[in-house]
Formats: sequence, structure tokens, C-alpha cells
Amino acid sequence: MKIDTCAFYDLFAPLLPENEDARADKEWTFEEAQEYIIQKFSSFSPDFGAFAEQAFKNNWIDAEIRTGKVGGAYCIDFPYQKESRVLSNFSGSFSDITTLAHELGHAYHYDCIKNTDYALSHYPMTLAETASIFAETIIMQDAVKNAAGFEKIKLIEMHLSDSTQVLVDILCRFYFERSVFEQRKERELGAEDFCRLMTEAQIKTYGSGLSEEKHPYMWAVKSHYYSPDLDFYNFPYAFGLLFATALFARFKKEGSAFAETYVSILKDTGSMSCEALCKKAGFDITKKDFWLEGIRVFYKDLEEMKTYADSL
Ligand SMILES: [Zn+2]
Repeated sequence: MKIDTCAFYDLFAPLLPENEDARADKEWTFEEAQEYIIQKFSSFSPDFGAFAEQAFKNNWIDAEIRTGKVGGAYCIDFPYQKESRVLSNFSGSFSDITTLAHELGHAYHYDCIKNTDYALSHYPMTLAETASIFAETIIMQDAVKNAAGFEKIKLIEMHLSDSTQVLVDILCRFYFERSVFEQRKERELGAEDFCRLMTEAQIKTYGSGLSEEKHPYMWAVKSHYYSPDLDFYNFPYAFGLLFATALFARFKKEGSAFAETYVSILKDTGSMSCEALCKKAGFDITKKDFWLEGIRVFYKDLEEMKTYADSL
């Protein structure tokens, strides 16, 4: 069935398999995931691969699903020991592998910065998701490259679903949060106000792409709005995705020599402004072109997805 506009929940609609054989996703063991991640990180740089190997070998990752354990995934740095630890919940899906890669990217970021002065080892929110998304990109690009047929389409769809949430929905979350702050100056706001502001933000962001069925309660399900110390805690993902995509494009162009530049960029994240850091990496983020270039990277996937949809 073809539809012209989507309800909000359609944005997450799963892709229907072509036949029963394609229905079952490959289940990964933790050992297979470990081997795959180390191998792919090593193909970027031996240092990154060795870092991941050390993290796995020394049990820095708590990936087991247990009763009573918190869900999700995160990485924590311990400055006293100069080491990081990762929490995740590994169920064997491919997206659990990209999650592990994401968190190990955070840990590697800390590994690169840990020997600078403590005062210079804190990076701004803007750059907080650079290394994590870069690590995820290494895995995702490899998986797409080596897949074929429906398997490939499934990966592209997963990548596009995630990326459009980051690139499109995060704009919506920014509009919402800004309007909340503006109106809160005048009076206290309640659930009805939040629903109204969220719906307005979705209309402004998605335009005619979304049908009447929006998601007014989106503010209630995103924990990012409830960090009292962090305002607008959504945009680092959009910034990180485009920045990491641009860095990955550089790696594709320059090959293994880029690994050294990459480490030096991560090292400087706590001591330079974002604009200066990007300039050093060869990007001018004050120009619209830089952002458009990042967005264009997704066009190829989109074309492939459209061709597939037309063939149905
Ligand atoms: Zn992250």
C-alpha cells in the first residue's frame, strides 16, 4: 500500500520481508560481535582496534541482560584510573552491535583525551557525539557494503530511519524546547501546553510529510528534556551525525593516513572552540555548504530505498 503522508508511528514502521526466509534476522553471539567490531575498528586504525580489544578483554563492557538491570546503553569515564566502562544490553541483533560500537567510540574519545590536562579534557556537548557516531559509521558502512538483496535494503532502511530521526526530528525537538522556554517566561506550563507546543513543532518541521496523526506526547517519552543541567540536549546528535559523516568521507578519501588526524581532532575537543577545531580538520562549519554536504551523503541511500519501493 502506498501512502502520501505518514502518521508519526509510520516513521517507525518495519520493512516487510519479501518471504519467510528473509524474516529471521541473523542473531549474533557476543563473541561474534566482539570479533567483528575489533576487526572493523582495526581496518580504520590498528590503534582503534587494539583499544576495542583491550576493552573486551578486560571486561570493561557489561553487556549481559539481567533482571533488574537498567535498559539502554552508556559509557562512563573514570579520570582517576583513566579508563572507561560501558553498559549495554546485548540481545544479539545487528543494532546492538552498532550500539556497542557507539559506546566504544565514546570510550576511545576519552582514551585520546585522557592524558591532556584535566581542565582541558572536557569537551562541549557539540562534540560529544563525534567519536561515537564515527565508530558506528565504520560498522554501518561495512555492513551495507557487504550485504546484498533484501538484507542490504533492511540495513539501509535502518540507517535512514535512525538518521532521519536525528536530522529531522531533532530539529522538531529544538523548536519545541525553544518555545517551551519562551512561554515559560510568562507562566507555568502544563501537559496540555506541552502537547500543543509539540504538535506545532511537528507541523513546522515535517510540513505536509506528516498526516493529522502526530505525536503530541513526544515530550513525555524523551528523557533528554529532563536533565536539569542540560538544555537543548538533542542537537549534539544532529551535529555529531553530520560532523562524523564529513569526517568519515575524509577517511574514505585519505585512507589510513587520516587516523592520525582523527586522533588529533579528538585530543583537541576539550581545548578548542568547535569552529576552530573544525577549521583545523578542514571544515568550515560557519558555511551552509558544509551542512548540505553532510546531508547529501544520505541521498544515495534514499535513492536506493526509492528504487526498491518502486519495485514493489
Ligand atoms: Zn552517545
